[in-house]
Amino acid sequence: MGRRILILGGTSEARGLVKGLLDEGLHDVTLSLAGALGDGTEASFRDRLKKTDLSRLYIRIGGFGGPDGLSAYLQTEAIDLLIDATHPYAAQISHNAHQAANRCQIGFVRLERPAWEPLAGKSWIEAKDLNDAATCIPQGARVLLAVGRQSAKPFQARTDCHFLLRSIAPANVVDFGGNFSFCQAMPGKTIEEEIQLLQEKEISCLVTKNSGAKRSYHKIAAAHALGLDVVMIKRPILPDCRIFNNLDTILDWLKG
Ligand code: NAP
Repeated sequence: MGRRILILGGTSEARGLVKGLLDEGLHDVTLSLAGALGDGTEASFRDRLKKTDLSRLYIRIGGFGGPDGLSAYLQTEAIDLLIDATHPYAAQISHNAHQAANRCQIGFVRLERPAWEPLAGKSWIEAKDLNDAATCIPQGARVLLAVGRQSAKPFQARTDCHFLLRSIAPANVVDFGGNFSFCQAMPGKTIEEEIQLLQEKEISCLVTKNSGAKRSYHKIAAAHALGLDVVMIKRPILPDCRIFNNLDTILDWLKG
């Protein structure tokens, strides 16, 4: 039977799920985007799914106003399944969603990319959060900071280091200090591209979140190939719920 599904998105997983559900045509689907630049605005979402008929998809943009606002939305729209397909570091919305789904007594599941794992013999300095990562960086390092511009602040205290902040969205490096430079770019498409950047900029340390995305792994493979330090920021703890690690499994489950 068709369900009314709300997908919390902003990731390629959410995009894949929307496409899969629309292709099947069994359910009413609404996609929610936070609306911040870089998290998948409606225009970029539609552009990336050009070949899919999006006429049956409703896209809503912007915050709900915490768990209360989200609960009210779920009730008004008679949503019966909430799927959290947000980025693994978007912890606030995941906790809000869990709380709201419980309150409204509707189904709640999560679609999540598996995390990257350390490789034997390769550098992998695990940091518990952004502040901890800032203290883990070796003295005087030249750092490729691949954490997103909104997560760069804790690194300002490390005036002994130089930071190349790479971000998809624009950032004003003047806000961060003289030891920051900025590169507005997507992650490199190949290991070779990433090696070239690391060598050109004389990078000695990579700091990254454990996003688990295939495309963003090239920077880690490149840092490993050059024997650089890798500081990996652990994923935040997310609500306890059923988790699907791949698209086919969640689509099969939704057919049942
Ligand atoms: P967050 O800290 O968990 O959420 C902050 C607030 O933004 C939430 O309380 C909620 O506002 C609103 N929000 C977040 N995701 C939303 C969504 N899909 N639909 C509607 N409102 C949403 O999130 P964040 O880390 O800022 O990430 C924002 C978005 O960017 C997420 O959708 C995430 O999937 C995507 N993203 C995040 C990262 C990252 O590294 N964090 C990377 C890539 C993409 P209200 O409380 O008002 O409802």
